[in-house]
Amino acid sequence: MAIHRMTDIPASEVADVISDFELEGFTVTKIDQGNGLFTVEARKGDDGGQPVGDPGTQTGTTGTDPTPGGGTSSSTGGTSITSPTDLLKRLAAAYKTATIQHPQLRAVTLAQWLLESGRATSDLAKLHLNFGGLKFRPEMAPFATSVSFQAHDGVDDYCKFASIEKFIQGYWAFLDRSPYAGKENHVSSGESFIRFIGPIYTPTPGYADTVLSLVAEATGLLSGAGAGTGDPSPAGTGETSTAGAVNLGTIVIDPGHGGTSDLSGSSHNNAKALSGALEKTLTLQFATLLQSALVSQAQAANEQIKVVLTRTTDMNVTGAGRAGTALTQRAKLFLSIHFNGDAPTARGTETFFRAAENGNVNLEDDKAFARDVQSAVFGAIKALDGSAADRGAKPDSMTKLGKLAVLSDINLGNAQMQNKCRAALLEVEFITNPAADQLLVSGPSAAANRAQVMAALATRLRQHMKAMG
Ligand SMILES: [Zn+2]
Repeated sequence: MAIHRMTDIPASEVADVISDFELEGFTVTKIDQGNGLFTVEARKGDDGGQPVGDPGTQTGTTGTDPTPGGGTSSSTGGTSITSPTDLLKRLAAAYKTATIQHPQLRAVTLAQWLLESGRATSDLAKLHLNFGGLKFRPEMAPFATSVSFQAHDGVDDYCKFASIEKFIQGYWAFLDRSPYAGKENHVSSGESFIRFIGPIYTPTPGYADTVLSLVAEATGLLSGAGAGTGDPSPAGTGETSTAGAVNLGTIVIDPGHGGTSDLSGSSHNNAKALSGALEKTLTLQFATLLQSALVSQAQAANEQIKVVLTRTTDMNVTGAGRAGTALTQRAKLFLSIHFNGDAPTARGTETFFRAAENGNVNLEDDKAFARDVQSAVFGAIKALDGSAADRGAKPDSMTKLGKLAVLSDINLGNAQMQNKCRAALLEVEFITNPAADQLLVSGPSAAANRAQVMAALATRLRQHMKAMG
């Protein structure tokens, strides 16, 4: 089954988006977000049904909305995070040391509690230590007592926990109930997990995306670094930063394409996977995974890193605008992520750098960066699939366009800056190849494989940034 959920689509574009999906054979549902924007949910395959909320959970948040200005907006980017309350610090500290069956899901589940409890400011959290908005069910008796509570959707019986430890145990027991059967097949990554349980937990559109946008903050809380440093990130850039001893600097990740209209230096989409996914969707998915991996690895290694995305929603940005983010952020690295499309026999990974004849002012540095990206990504894909192909690191003069706007040293600001940003454009794989599609897009292990490849790339990027000093 293929499901696509796109949020924050302007009214003027929603008809186009729907007809695109319908042309591809999807069943489409349009949801009015109530703020002039729309969510479109497209499904194809053996399950045409709508997501059904688990009647055991509330359908939203009872507390202060933790996504300022957003509500259900999928990824509004940088947020002005206020200092964590003592209760939130206690929750994070208890969860950090709690024994849970799937420690790899610690950050994403804490992110979910941040959302559900309004960062531990909801009455349910403050009065009853219920950070998950969990309604009472008989199976919860070993962990909680029942309390009548007025939430936004009326009065109902909710769980009241005697301690934070009981809440943590109770949350996982709640998910062991029958509505969540099958979740064990989705524990390889936080994203896979929340995309599975999210639609059961609540029918709120874009819920999983909202939770995922809070993972970096949850990771920070778990590391003990705290999320209350007042990250001064500008809205919309989707940046995250962490506090630590070694400062790696800033990296800009550019998810290629987006939106529904072509702009200068950036078409809205190029390739389409055999299984139906669009390149623009995959680039954002991989960029978000890479961002999470960079942040969590840096936290674990006590490094400081700032990760900025050129877009965090399904929108297009001009080529110059994308590269320009590197200048405004004074980034050390700029990495654009794309996927190739061609005949089904074509496959392999390749990485482009600015060609000498296209006016590269830091050719050797760019080459070294492109080679690092290429060897990390190709190596990780090869480890998963022996038939992977290494197409190498090469100049952008070898692309169909002859030169790429996102690698322009003028657009990157390198012509005037002393500390030059190294830039590369990665073509992860040919999503028109059946084996590559299975491996990274639609196969049973695709979610785990994506996370593994982006984790390997994150490790190499951190090494590269460290070596740059
Ligand atoms: Zn592309």
